[in-house]
Amino acid sequence: MQRFFRHHDRFHVYQVKSILDDAGIPCFVKNELVQGAIGEIPPMDSEPEIWLQDSEWQSKAQKILDNFYQEQADISTDNKNDWACLHCEQINEFQFAICWKCQEPRVKDTC
Ligand SMILES: [Zn+2]
Repeated sequence: MQRFFRHHDRFHVYQVKSILDDAGIPCFVKNELVQGAIGEIPPMDSEPEIWLQDSEWQSKAQKILDNFYQEQADISTDNKNDWACLHCEQINEFQFAICWKCQEPRVKDTC
């Protein structure tokens, strides 16, 4: 087994999980039930994670994830504003779909 992905936003984790499911990649989510425990354990340990059943899926899964973020970026190309990473507050240029500093995906302000 190999950890593939981690994100503080559980919705985003499940979004990625469903993409991997659609691609037929065996994976599962860990830490999905410990959200209420924040404050008792370090936050980094309580973020939901996606694990691959086998590390041999790593490169394929990564490619799928890259494509996903690329599509997201294509969709938002009409937005020419630089954006601030919600994770580390790094300012990124608009064409980047993930933060160049911490690799957090760009989060659309939908909520
Ligand atoms: Zn960042």
